[in-house]
Amino acid sequence: MLLYYQKIGKTHCEQYICDMNKGNQYYIELEDKYGAHNYHPLPVVLERGEGVFVWDVEGKKYYDFLSAYSAMNQGHCHPRIINVLKSQAEKLTLTSRAFYNSVLGEFEQYITDYFGYDKVLPMNSGVEAVETALKLCRKWAYEVKGVEENKAKIIVVSENFHGRTMGVVSFSTDPDSYSGFGPFLPGFEVVPYNDIEAMTKALSQPNVAGVMVEPIQGEAGVIVPQDGYLKSIREHCTKNNILFIADEVQTGIARTGRMLACDHEEVRPDIVVLGKALSGGVLPVSAVLADDEIMLCIKPGEHGSTYGGNPLSSAVAMEALKVIKEEGLVDHAEAMGKIFRQRMSAIKSDLITDVRGKGLLNAIDIQPFGDGKTAYDVCLLLRDNGLLAKQTHVHTIRFAPPLVITEEQINLCADIIESTITGLV
Ligand code: PLP
Repeated sequence: MLLYYQKIGKTHCEQYICDMNKGNQYYIELEDKYGAHNYHPLPVVLERGEGVFVWDVEGKKYYDFLSAYSAMNQGHCHPRIINVLKSQAEKLTLTSRAFYNSVLGEFEQYITDYFGYDKVLPMNSGVEAVETALKLCRKWAYEVKGVEENKAKIIVVSENFHGRTMGVVSFSTDPDSYSGFGPFLPGFEVVPYNDIEAMTKALSQPNVAGVMVEPIQGEAGVIVPQDGYLKSIREHCTKNNILFIADEVQTGIARTGRMLACDHEEVRPDIVVLGKALSGGVLPVSAVLADDEIMLCIKPGEHGSTYGGNPLSSAVAMEALKVIKEEGLVDHAEAMGKIFRQRMSAIKSDLITDVRGKGLLNAIDIQPFGDGKTAYDVCLLLRDNGLLAKQTHVHTIRFAPPLVITEEQINLCADIIESTITGLV
C-alpha cells in the first residue's frame, strides 16, 4: 500500500487522509492520473446501483437518468439477470466458437423468434455489431445483388453516431469523432438526416448496397425524424433492392416505447443492430439480426469474435429480453415518457427551448445562461439535487432513466428538474 501511494505521489499525511476518507475526489484523481483522458465524466463516483437508483462512494443516492446511455433499461442489478449471471458463471463462461456450447443455440432461437428474423450473429460491443452489419451488407451486395467487387456504397446520414472504430468514424460528421484519425475508409456517402428528398436521390444511385440510420439519433441529442421518414427509406430500399440497416443499439429493446424504434412506423429493417440493453447493462452483448438471404452470405472463417456468443452472455441476454416482456416495459416506457414530456413542456422557464423524444428517450435544449453557463452546469446542479443526467453536445440534456421507473418516481424527478431549472434565473 505504501509503495502504491508513493507511486501516485501522495505524502504520508495524505495517505492517511485518503485511507480515512476515500470520497469522490480520491477516485476522480486516480482516474485522472492513470486513465486515458478520452472522457469528461460528471464529477460523481458511483459504487452501487439498484433499479432506478445509484449511490456514490460517499453514500449519496441519485436517480439515474442516463442509464449508461440506455443500457440499463431493466434497471440496475436486476435480480433475475444477476441470478442467471451468477449461476451460468459457475458453470461455463467461454468456449470460443471453436466448439458448440449448450446456451448459444437456445439464445439464438429465443432472440430470432423474439424479433422475427431467421438468424442472429452475436457480438460484444455495439460498434462491433455495427461493423458486422456493414460487412454483411457489402458481402450481400457482391454475392446476391451483383454489385461489381469493391464498388459497393453504403448511405449514412449526417450527425450519425455508430461508435468509435476506424470504419465507423470514417463516415462520422462530428469533428471530435474523426479529426486526426484519417485516412478514412471509402465506400460511404453521407446525406443530411431527416431529408427525404436527399435520401431518395441517394438511394436511386447504382451500386448502393445499403443505408444505415439510427431511427432516433441518440448521441446527436435525441433527434426524432419527421413522421414517414423511416417508411420512405423502407419503400425506396425495397424498390431499389437496397438493404435497410437500423442501428437500434440505443433506441432498441423498449427504450422508445416500442420494442424497436422502427416499430413506431411499422417498418421492418433488413438488418437490425442491437447492443446496450441486450444484457440489461450486465455484460457487453450485441447482436445483428437478418434473414437467411443476407446472413448466410458470411461463411465460416469470414467473421467472428472470441467472446461473441459465449454462454455467459447468451444466458444473460436471454434473461434480459425475458424481463422486458414479462415486466411489460414497452408499454410502461411509452406511458412514462408521455408524462415526462408533459411535465417538461409545462415548466415555465425561458431557458428551455425544446422538449422532445419518444418513450423514455427524451431531451431538453437549454439556452446559455448566467456567465456563459450551459447544459453541463445544469447537470451539475441536478447532481447536487439527486438526479444524474448528462449533457450531449453543449445545449442538450438527455433524460433516459431505467424503464422500471414508477409514475410516482417520474413525477418526483420532474419536480427535481423543474425546481433546478426555475431556480436558475
Ligand atoms: N450505435 C449507437 C446508435 C449508439 O448509440 C452507440 C453507443 O452509444 C453505438 C452504436 C456504439 O456502442 P458501443 O459503445 O457499445 O460500441
